[in-house]
Amino acid sequence: MKAEIIPVGTEILLGNIVDTNSSFLANQLPLLGIDLYFISTAGDNQKRLVDTLRRAWKRADLIITTGGLGPTQDDITRDAISELVNERLEVDEKLWQELQALLRRYLGEIPQSNIRQATVIPSAQVVPNRMGTAPGWWVEKDDHIIIALPGPSDEMKMMWQEGILPKLEQRATGEVILSRVIKTFRLAEAKVDEMVASISKLSNPTLATYINPDGVYLRITAKAKEKREAQRLIAQSEEQIRNMLSPYIWGVDDDTLGTVIGGLLRAKNRSLATMESCTEGLLCGTIANGRESCTYFKGGLLAACDEAKMACGVDVAIMDEYGKESIQVAKAMAEIARRNLRADVGIGVGGSMNADTNSGEAFVGLSSNKFEKTFTHRLRGNRSRMKQRAVYAALFDLRKMLLEEV
Ligand code: ATP
Repeated sequence: MKAEIIPVGTEILLGNIVDTNSSFLANQLPLLGIDLYFISTAGDNQKRLVDTLRRAWKRADLIITTGGLGPTQDDITRDAISELVNERLEVDEKLWQELQALLRRYLGEIPQSNIRQATVIPSAQVVPNRMGTAPGWWVEKDDHIIIALPGPSDEMKMMWQEGILPKLEQRATGEVILSRVIKTFRLAEAKVDEMVASISKLSNPTLATYINPDGVYLRITAKAKEKREAQRLIAQSEEQIRNMLSPYIWGVDDDTLGTVIGGLLRAKNRSLATMESCTEGLLCGTIANGRESCTYFKGGLLAACDEAKMACGVDVAIMDEYGKESIQVAKAMAEIARRNLRADVGIGVGGSMNADTNSGEAFVGLSSNKFEKTFTHRLRGNRSRMKQRAVYAALFDLRKMLLEEV
């Protein structure tokens, strides 16, 4: 089965929101053995949406739209599908009664415009939405399936899991596609490609490499009749990759640097505190974001200016002698974080970033009763990229020290 996803919304085309619905759906389809060839975004314009649907109709058996199911005039997905399949929209009385009861409960009143959300075409089955007012549609016509889901991600995902997935599973060909992502660091993409060249030309499983701010990722994708066979193919490739890249691998699949560091700290029964300047809270946020981070993360200090560094205890003589952003200051910040927040390990991150030249330096200090270390990293890119890179570089330094400490 071939699928096409059509996210609907002018806000996506304007860059106001990121189309995370498509990435969720694109991850789901391979598990059902469904091939996705196109994601075609359309704005809130009925003519263009109908054109997009017509194109998808020609090249896919399954079309999934998200968004445009609200009550207002610019919510045009229902109208566009009805035009595509040439069927009239009519109010479904039962659905309208249910919707009115829901609106009365939520809003205490019933805006008449909501009646649009109770309209259906004859070949549409309603997909219930227990989190919002926009019901979805499952339309079957002329060997095609069209699924219309609302835009808000939580509603869309819930309806996918409860209303769509069970139906699609019945139809699936039985072919399963599974993926595994291996995350590496401090290697260039070309270098990774070169190192895994012997297995990158296989057709099943396939191997793709791509760059992320926290390193180069390798995605292994296997197709098989059964989940177990796909898992076996992936495990085989993963073992080969681990043999080639082991020292550079820091995580898999959903691992983030924050969760990996958290896991290490927990395993060692150690706690962490941070102090940062130029990264403006990103370091603290990245660590605090880990699961149950309060079990290992004591907290973070942000020195937004030099006075704040001094107020936290950085010696003014060190700042004068070595520079307000320097290795020595980063080292002092690590000690201050550790001492003041009563943690086992402190990490200090400072640096300088030049927005005109898009270049800079990050200084990292690490402090514990077992190690005291500093690192310098060159940075490139725009400001937000440099901040992100400084944080990742510091966390890789911390990971290295935690792995090496005895
Ligand atoms: P509603 O009844 O809430 O209006 P809707 O189906 O009409 O639902 P839209 O109005 O198109 O949905 O979008 C509502 C919100 O859903 C957007 O403001 C955005 O926050 C989110 N959303 C829409 N499309 C996407 C998408 N493709 N990816 C992620 N979020 C999305």
